[in-house]
Amino acid sequence: MKIYNTLTKKKEEFVPIEDGKVRMYVCGPTVYNYIHIGNARPMIVFDTVRRYFEHKGYEVNYVSNFTDVDDKIIKKAIEEGTDTDTISKRYIAECKKDMAGMNIKPATKHPLATEEIQGMIDMISTLIEKGYAYNSNGTVYFRTRKFEGYGKLSKKNIDELEAGKRIAVEEQKEDPMDFVLWKPKKDGEPFWESPWSEGRPGWHIECSVMSKKYLGDSIDIHAGGEDLIFPHHENEIAQSEAANGVQFAKYWMHNAFLNIDNKKMSKSAGNFFTVRDISEKVDLMVLRFFMLSAHYRNPVNFSEELVDAAKNGLDRITTAVDTLTHMLKKDGRDEKLTDDEAKLLEEYKAITTRFDEAMDDDFNTADAITAIFDMVKFANSNADENSSVAFLDALKNQIIEYMDILGIKVEKEEEILDADIEKLIEERQNARKEKNFARADEIRDLLAEKGIVLLDTREGVRWKRN
Ligand code: AMP
Ligand code: ZN
Repeated sequence: MKIYNTLTKKKEEFVPIEDGKVRMYVCGPTVYNYIHIGNARPMIVFDTVRRYFEHKGYEVNYVSNFTDVDDKIIKKAIEEGTDTDTISKRYIAECKKDMAGMNIKPATKHPLATEEIQGMIDMISTLIEKGYAYNSNGTVYFRTRKFEGYGKLSKKNIDELEAGKRIAVEEQKEDPMDFVLWKPKKDGEPFWESPWSEGRPGWHIECSVMSKKYLGDSIDIHAGGEDLIFPHHENEIAQSEAANGVQFAKYWMHNAFLNIDNKKMSKSAGNFFTVRDISEKVDLMVLRFFMLSAHYRNPVNFSEELVDAAKNGLDRITTAVDTLTHMLKKDGRDEKLTDDEAKLLEEYKAITTRFDEAMDDDFNTADAITAIFDMVKFANSNADENSSVAFLDALKNQIIEYMDILGIKVEKEEEILDADIEKLIEERQNARKEKNFARADEIRDLLAEKGIVLLDTREGVRWKRN
């Protein structure tokens, strides 16, 4: 399996630090608003990377943070006349809803910056002890020039970076390239006690600390959008490697931007759509499919036409699966494969292998999707009245399995009919009368799974579809 590593600028064979395990960290969003579909790109891309590793049999420990203390959150809290906690909690909850809609698996751990302050103080103290950081009137800076490898990820030269950089009057740095690890509070800002000042951490330190705490000093993959390469990831490397004395991440993966009119979609530029906006227009599975239709290292230009094209493409796949499901319901089919079918399945297998080959080549989801379309074409032209159950099952399951690796659900949920609901409710009432509460609960849960909510009213049980 090959991964393009930003650190070496090459595709490299993936060799995990520990056999059979992948430890990966993905920088998450700052939570002061609904996430936009640009933020959704790394979420979808790296969730797909995780799913592919799992498909290959790896156990994946996947950590992704929420930055819940930051200038933008503070500004939003002031605008709304509330506190930062209320803002960040609200948008973490909203972000998790969007993630569920896009079928993004919850991380093994979603650490919050505000819950990891002690760890950050500890790492900053270590950096000071080792001479990599210094306290200047309550602000702690990282001594960038002391870290020899600075610039190795972004391929920037520290002297070139420094040219034209000035130290602002209020900053008391030794060198313009030094960056903040801890800063004193300003009036009305949230703060924590520390050996240097009542204040809060700089942004970069949280990822170094969370990654170490939940994954260890050295991890396999560190990922995020390409705007994070510099300075965020460069600074993370400096902090972690200076503090821990070992290589931080073996492979650095970065997704390209989602653009509008060839400009990066961003909140500050105001040219963005939230995931929530899009969910009102199309199913979020379409958004996910759209995102994966391009290779993650290529920029994607967002437009309604391209989303429509993605919708049509995905419809072709879901319709094929639906047709196979209907065929399988027809009675009287032979169970077993015929010899001809066995031969056809060999051909089918050759197409399916292309999915794995594409994914093995730096997660080329664009080519993987082409392989799925070819599988669909094959199924459409080879499944018929006389096909056996085994043949239809094989065609259908392979499409579902691969779409599941891409995180896209293609099976239509079976609708539950009103009459069936009424029957189940009656059965639940009887179970309750007989004090069989276990069965009553079971029926309630079963209905809940189908999106049916029960309301116990004086007039009896009423129900609605959620
Ligand atoms: P932020 O909340 O700005 O820190 O962004 C969270 C994640 O979204 C980071 O990995 C960013 O690199 C990524 N990101 C932000 N905007 C875009 C965009 N337009 N296209 C792709 N990724 C983006
Ligand atoms: Zn980060």
